[in-house]
Amino acid sequence: MKGLPPERVAHAKMNYSFIVPSMLVLLVIMGYYFFRPRLPIRLNRSFLAILVIDIFTELFECISYRLNETWPAHDPRLLGAFNLLFYFFFFSRSYMFFVFTISVLDARSIGRSELHRYVPAPFFGFALTVLVNPLTGWLFTIENGCRNGPLYWLIYACGGSYALFSLMAVYRHRRELTAHEVISLTAIQLVLLVGLFVRFLVPTFVVMNTFCLMVIIIIFISFLNPDLYLSERGYVYNLPAFQALLSECYRRCRPCRILGFALQNYNEHREIFGGKQMDDALTRINRWLTDSFPELSAYYLRNGCFALVGQNCPDLFAIRKKLRERFAGAWKTGVGELRLNVSFVEADMEVLDCPADRMVNTLMISLDDLSRVSEPDASLSLSDSIEEINQKLIIRRCLERALEQDELEVFLQPLVDCATGKRIAAEALVRLRDEEGKLIRPDLFITMAEQEGHIVQLGEQVLSKVCRFIRDNDMDAIGVRWINVNLSPVQFMARDIPARFAAILKEYGVSEEMIHLEITEQSMIDFSLLRDQITGLHENGFEFSLDDYGSGYSNLSRVRQYPFTNIKIDMEVVRNYCRDRDLLLPALVQAFKKMNLSITAEGIETAEMAGALKEIGCDYLQGYYFSRPVPMTEFLAQAV
Ligand code: C2E
Ligand code: MG
Ligand code: MG
Repeated sequence: MKGLPPERVAHAKMNYSFIVPSMLVLLVIMGYYFFRPRLPIRLNRSFLAILVIDIFTELFECISYRLNETWPAHDPRLLGAFNLLFYFFFFSRSYMFFVFTISVLDARSIGRSELHRYVPAPFFGFALTVLVNPLTGWLFTIENGCRNGPLYWLIYACGGSYALFSLMAVYRHRRELTAHEVISLTAIQLVLLVGLFVRFLVPTFVVMNTFCLMVIIIIFISFLNPDLYLSERGYVYNLPAFQALLSECYRRCRPCRILGFALQNYNEHREIFGGKQMDDALTRINRWLTDSFPELSAYYLRNGCFALVGQNCPDLFAIRKKLRERFAGAWKTGVGELRLNVSFVEADMEVLDCPADRMVNTLMISLDDLSRVSEPDASLSLSDSIEEINQKLIIRRCLERALEQDELEVFLQPLVDCATGKRIAAEALVRLRDEEGKLIRPDLFITMAEQEGHIVQLGEQVLSKVCRFIRDNDMDAIGVRWINVNLSPVQFMARDIPARFAAILKEYGVSEEMIHLEITEQSMIDFSLLRDQITGLHENGFEFSLDDYGSGYSNLSRVRQYPFTNIKIDMEVVRNYCRDRDLLLPALVQAFKKMNLSITAEGIETAEMAGALKEIGCDYLQGYYFSRPVPMTEFLAQAV
C-alpha cells in the first residue's frame, strides 16, 4: 500500500467516528417523520426517497468499507456486489438532492425549464457506469483487494455537478421563491459541496454522511416538518396543506374531489359556548374525520370550515350522508354536549379545471358564507362561484385596459321635455366592452370600479368625454341644454373632486351649467363629507339631480338638506304607478314641485306611460320609448 495515495486504495483503514452519531440522528428524524401524517405531495415523496436512499448508502458504505478492509477473508464476488451497491446508492443520493430542489420549484408552480428536462441524463450515465463496472473496472477493481478505478472521480463529478445544477436552478428562479426558500436551497447545495470537498481531502474519514445529515435536517426544518402542515386541533391537515395538495393536483392534472363543509353559525356558537368548548368539539370532529375516512385526507381550514379530499374518485354523496348522520347526533366536549349543523360545498377539480389558488379562494368564500347560514343542509355549487369569479376576472381585465387606454365609451340617452315633446337634455351612461366587443353590464363593472379604487378615474374619463362632446358639437342645434353625468358616492371620497371637475371643464372650455350631476338615492347616506362635497360642487355652478328616487329610503326632509334641483323618479316606481294608478306618486310629484324641484320620470317604455307621467306633472321623461342609450355619433344623427 505504501507509495500509493489513500484515494487510490479503497481498502485503506477507515475512520468511522462520524458515521454512528450521524446514523442515530437520522433515525430520530425518520422516526418523527414516519409517525406523523404526511401530505401526499411530490415534495414529501422525494424527501422520503432521500431518507431511504441515504440510509441504504450509509449501510452499504459501512459494509463495503468493512469488507474492503478485511478483503482477504471474503469472496471477491461479495466484495464486488457490496461496492457496486454502495456506488449505485451514492450516485442516487446526489441525484435525489437535485430532484428535491426541482420538486420545491415545481411546488411553487415554476415551469419546468430545459435544465429540469435534460439533467436526469447524466444520472443514467453514472448508473450505467456502475452496472458495467464488473466488466470495465472503471470505478473499482477487486483483484488484490478493492482498488479505485480510473473513473473513481465520477463520484465527485456526480455530486458536484448536481449541486451546481441545483444552485443554477435556484438562482434562475430566485424571484419566484421566498427568501427563506432561496437561503435554504442554497445552503443545502453549499453543504453538499463542502462535504464532497472534505471527502476528497480526507478520504479515509467516513464523513460525507454527516454532511448529508445536515442537508436532511435543513430540508426537514425548512420544508417538510410535518407540523407545518398539521392543524393544531387534532391530527388533520391545515389550510397551507390544502393549498399545497390542490396546486399539485392541478399542476399534475391529477383528479381530485373535494367535499367542503362548514359548521353553521360558527361564530355565534363560539360566542355562546365559549372558545374552549368549541375547540374541544373541533378536535373531536377532526379525530372522527381521520378515523372515519382513512381513504381521504381531512383538513381543518379555519373558523369551523373543513374539507375532505379524495384522489380516487370518492363517492361524495355517501361521504356527505355519513357526515350528516354523525352531525345529527351531539358532540361530547369536556363540559357537556354540542349539537352542530353543517352545510356543504362540493368540487371536482377535473370538472372545474380552475387553478388551485382561485379554487381555494372560492371555496373559502363559499364556506365562510355557509358558516353564516342556518338553513338545514344548505349547500352551494362551487362551479357557479368559480364561473362568477372567472367572469369578474374578465371584467377586471377589460376595465383596467379601458381605463388605461382611455377606451371607456359614453352613450347618451335623451331626456324629453313634456312641454314641447322634444329632447332637452341627455344622460351620459358609461359603457365597457369585453374582449369580443360585447357590452358588459354597467352595474357589474361600476361596482367593481368602486370596490377596487378605479371609480374616480372612471368618472373623470366619462366627464372628459362628455365635455369633449359638448365642445366639439353645437348643443343648441341638437336641442341639448345640459348633459346629466352620474356620480358614485365613492367619488366624493376624493376631497379635491370640486377642483378636479373644475379643471376638466376648464380644459374643454365647458361651462358648469352644461353639466348636471346625478347621485342615486341609495347613496344618500348621512355622511357629512358627501354633503360638503355636493355643496362645494353646487357652489361651483353644478346642478344636482337625485337619481332613482323611490328605490331607497330618503324622506322629503333629507332631500331638502341637499341642493337638488331635479328629482328622477325610479323606473320601478314609474312602472308600479302605470300598473296601478294610486294617489301616492301624483301627491309626491306635487310636493316636490312645491319645493321648486323639477321632476324626471325614468323608464318610460310606452306612449301610455309617457302620457300618464306627463299628466301627473312630470317635467321631463326618459326611456326606451324615446330612445335607448346610444353612442354619441348615433345621438347626433338622431337630431338631424
Ligand atoms: P341610472 O343612472 O338610473 O341610468 C338609467 C338606467 O336605466 C340606464 O341603465 C339606462 O340604460 C336604463 N334605462 C333607460 N331607459 C330605460 C327604459 O325605458 N327601460 C329600462 N328597462 N331601462 C331603461 P344602464 O346604462 O345599465 O346604467 C345603470 C346604472 O349604472 C345607471 O343607472 C347609473 O346608476 C350607473 N351608471 C351609468 N353610467 C355611469 C357613470 O358614468 N358613472 C357612474 N358612477 N354610474 C353610472
Ligand atoms: Mg342616472
Ligand atoms: Mg336612474
